[in-house]
Amino acid sequence: MLNGKTALVTGSTSGIGLGIAKALARQGANVMLNGFGEVEAAKAEVAALGVKVSYHRADMSKPAEIEDMMKAAAAEFGRVDVLVNNAGIQHVANIEDFPVDRWDAIIAINLSSAFHTTRLALPAMKAANWGRIINVASVHGLVASAQKSAYVAAKHGIVGLTKVTALETATTGVTCNAICPGWVLTPLVQKQVDAKVAALGISNEEATRRLLGEKEPSMQFTTPEELGELAVFFCSPAANNVRGVAWNMDGGWVAQ
Ligand code: NAD
Repeated sequence: MLNGKTALVTGSTSGIGLGIAKALARQGANVMLNGFGEVEAAKAEVAALGVKVSYHRADMSKPAEIEDMMKAAAAEFGRVDVLVNNAGIQHVANIEDFPVDRWDAIIAINLSSAFHTTRLALPAMKAANWGRIINVASVHGLVASAQKSAYVAAKHGIVGLTKVTALETATTGVTCNAICPGWVLTPLVQKQVDAKVAALGISNEEATRRLLGEKEPSMQFTTPEELGELAVFFCSPAANNVRGVAWNMDGGWVAQ
C-alpha cells in the first residue's frame, strides 16, 4: 500500500515509534528513523522488512536540528509522505516541585517538535496532494492525571494542533490525525513501574498490576504492533476522509 512512499517517524529507536515504523515498512514505505536509543538494532529491524532505511539524529527539542532532518529526508527520498510525530518524554512531579527545565523539555519535545516537522512537511505534501500526518498523543491528550502537568499540557496541545492541521488541509489529499494510547509497556512506562517498585517496596509484577489497575479497565497493555496497525489504517484509502480525530486505543481508560 505504501510502496515508493517515505515515512519519517520521530523517536523511533524504541517502543511505539519503532512499532509504527515497522508497520509502515511492512506496507512498503521507506523509513527515516530518529531517536537516541539502539540505532543500529532499530535500523536492522526495519531493513529486514525489505525497505530503504535511513536515520537522522536530530534532537526534537532543537528547531534547527529538526530543519536539518527534514532537509535530509527530502534530499534522500524526495519528500516525506507520512510524518509520524512520536518522540516524547515524561516527568512525574507535583506542579510546585516540577523542575522548570523538565517543563520546557517536555513542551519542546512532545509538542513544539510536531509544529516544526508539520510546518516543514506540509508544502511538499500539499504539492503532491497526498500526505499523512499522524501525531502520537496519549489518553493524556484527552484526560488528565495528577503529577503530569507538562505531559498532559503537551498532549492536549498536540490534539489541538492535530485538529488545526486537519482543518487547514481539509480540501486536500493530506490528512492529520492523532493516536491516543493508554499504557504501553515501553521504556517510558517501565520507568514508572520501576518508581513504584522503589517507592512501595513491591515486586515488578505487583507494580505493573497496580499501574494497570489504576487506569486501564482491560488490565492489558496496548502494544506497539496494535498502534502500528492503527497508523496503517490512517494511511489507507479507507481513511481518506478521516480528519482531525484523536483515536484512543486504551483498554477503556477514557470510557470511565
Ligand atoms: P520510548 O521511551 O520507548 O520512546 C521514545 C522515543 O523518543 C525514543 O526513540 C527516544 O530516543 C526518543 N526521544 C526522546 N527524546 C528525544 C529527543 N529529544 N529527540 C529525538 N528523539 C527523542 O517511549 P514510548 O512509550 O514508545 O513513547 C513514544 C510516544 O508515545 C511518546 O510521545 C509518548 O508520550 C507516547 N505515549 C506512550 C505511552 C506509553 O504507555 N508508553 C502512552 C501514551 C502515549
